[in-house]
Amino acid sequence: MTEINQELYQQLILEHNRKPRNFRKLAEPTHFAEGFNPLCGDRYEVYLKVNADGIIEDVSFEGSGCAISKASASLMTEGVKGKPVAQAQSLFAEFRELLKGTDPTLAASPTLGKLRIFAGIWKYPSRVKCAGLSWHAMHAAVEDKNQVSTE
Ligand code: ZN
Repeated sequence: MTEINQELYQQLILEHNRKPRNFRKLAEPTHFAEGFNPLCGDRYEVYLKVNADGIIEDVSFEGSGCAISKASASLMTEGVKGKPVAQAQSLFAEFRELLKGTDPTLAASPTLGKLRIFAGIWKYPSRVKCAGLSWHAMHAAVEDKNQVSTE
């Protein structure tokens, strides 16, 4: 990561950790999953409300964990809210590749937007699990699996 990216990364992580977006339980979710990262102890529930047209009308999360996992969950809800499920799934696929660091061009991907701050995280494999956890939970939820673990 360049210095500027590093700074932006820290600011966004701190800000979303302090004030996570959509941090609540949904009253009537159509989809739900619990994600657990035993290595770090991060544990979150992800709730989705998908309407008849396949649009994610609402998405939220609850739980606790490290700053990276919480900030990433907050950014995940911002990233998929209002999008068709298929688009959320392809965003997840792209984000997962970004976390792996296998495709350097993703660090400039416009579809990833703010999520690009995680572009250098592949250097810290244990943190990759923290950053990916809520996304795996979102993915599991829409596939009607109610539990997912990073191990
Ligand atoms: Zn963690």
